[in-house]
Amino acid sequence: MTTQIVESVLAEAEKQDAKKVTEVHLTIGKLTFLGIEQVRFAYRILVEDTIMKGSKLIIKEKSGVIECPSCGYKGTLETEDNPMYHVPTPILKCPECGEAAKIVEGKECTIERIRMVK
Ligand SMILES: [Zn+2]
Repeated sequence: MTTQIVESVLAEAEKQDAKKVTEVHLTIGKLTFLGIEQVRFAYRILVEDTIMKGSKLIIKEKSGVIECPSCGYKGTLETEDNPMYHVPTPILKCPECGEAAKIVEGKECTIERIRMVK
């Protein structure tokens, strides 16, 4: 995932003819289960030999949203950090009617803004 982000940023920087990338703003959906620290760590390694070296990575987390096909409920999906498991486990149940709900937001990872020097 982080590789894809870095590649996209580099492609964009190249298109814009940038000399250096100074800031990358990301929005990461909580349901991607990407650990922010893991992303930061991978990022630092991946940008090492690129024009992104030394750039600041700003990450914003976005909550998941579920929608219930049975009653039409739409709301934020809360995940619980269970120390027993490595990742938080979302309960995909509609809080209104108890039917199975589906995820409509929170599984994406978007590059919001790139600041670069030309
Ligand atoms: Zn429902």
